[in-house]
Amino acid sequence: MKEDCIFCKIAKGEIHSATVYEDSHFTVILDVNPATKGHCLIIPKEHFDNIYDLDGETAGKLFALATCIARAMRDELKCDGLNLVQNNGEIAGQTVNHFHLHLIPRYEGDGLNLNWPQQEISVEQLEEIRQSIKKSI
Ligand code: 5GP
Ligand code: ZN
Repeated sequence: MKEDCIFCKIAKGEIHSATVYEDSHFTVILDVNPATKGHCLIIPKEHFDNIYDLDGETAGKLFALATCIARAMRDELKCDGLNLVQNNGEIAGQTVNHFHLHLIPRYEGDGLNLNWPQQEISVEQLEEIRQSIKKSI
């Protein structure tokens, strides 16, 4: 629990939210300002600022839960697709500094734009980047 963290307060039930699922590790809520109808957030009850802090065991459980929630959303919302979005850092659009995974249902003609421009890159640049990341894993 971190002081003044809105998602810690939601996870503890101190602030009301529209909860669709809860267990000892996670709470799943409807986003208060949804991108589309049925936009959900999976929130670990333990406070992690972002993906860099999240431990592998929690991450594994969280993604397993995401598969269940995704199927329930598909079946009940009759959405045509689903985006998983997870922002880390202000530049990446993170506004709540408690790790969370967005599940955003997509509907034909919903107008939501999550696309990015496709840049050109040389084979040499790709290789340089590949090697730099690979050596730190
Ligand atoms: P981020 O931009 O950090 O990836 O996403 C934060 C999300 O949390 C936003 O989509 C925002 O609408 C949602 N959010 C912020 N405060 C609350 C809240 O008090 N209740 C709920 N249900 N969602 C919230
Ligand atoms: Zn928190």
